[in-house]
Amino acid sequence: MTSAPKIGVLALQGDVREHIRALEEAGASATPVRRQEELAAVDALVVPGGESTTMWKLATTFELLEPLRLRIKEGMPAYGSCAGMIMLADRIEGGVEGQQTLGGIDMVVRRNAFGRQVDSFEADLDFAGRGPIRAVFIRAPWVESVGPDVEVLARTKAGDRIVAVRQGPLLATSFHPELTGDARVHSYFVEMVREL
Ligand code: GLN
Repeated sequence: MTSAPKIGVLALQGDVREHIRALEEAGASATPVRRQEELAAVDALVVPGGESTTMWKLATTFELLEPLRLRIKEGMPAYGSCAGMIMLADRIEGGVEGQQTLGGIDMVVRRNAFGRQVDSFEADLDFAGRGPIRAVFIRAPWVESVGPDVEVLARTKAGDRIVAVRQGPLLATSFHPELTGDARVHSYFVEMVREL
């Protein structure tokens, strides 16, 4: 792919604008996705941070849950941050009754694992061998366990928790790189999209 890949940001809820800005900075053409036609028009998708229970309910209401699952199954690259990581997990802990995800990554993700809103924090961590990056955690999940095909890209220094993973065309981080003005994680994703 030589031209800028067209990457959608699921815009049902969450910090959509920040992801659009970071994706544009990383060389992609970014656009919000709320409808099936918009989903069909993108090469890849970012599922933003926000609230996974709300996102799941809105995806159901907007009749996007099955189309999203289908595109992921067909190999569309996707990147989920925070609530988006929860959405890309095959299995979750600490979800509300009946909470569903899109799935795709063979992992168990624990919601609100680091504590409640007041416990939000920032930390420097190594991401995929790209040097230290500043990671912002807000009521963040962590990855409890991963299957054999999942590559661990980052862990917290304190507690050794898995906070970034990749499985084929799917990427997920517990933290919010879209909030720091550092587009290296988005650049990593845009490179993934170009390679596929
Ligand atoms: N705790 C939220 C959830 O369960 C995620 C928080 C976030 O995305 N900042 O969806």
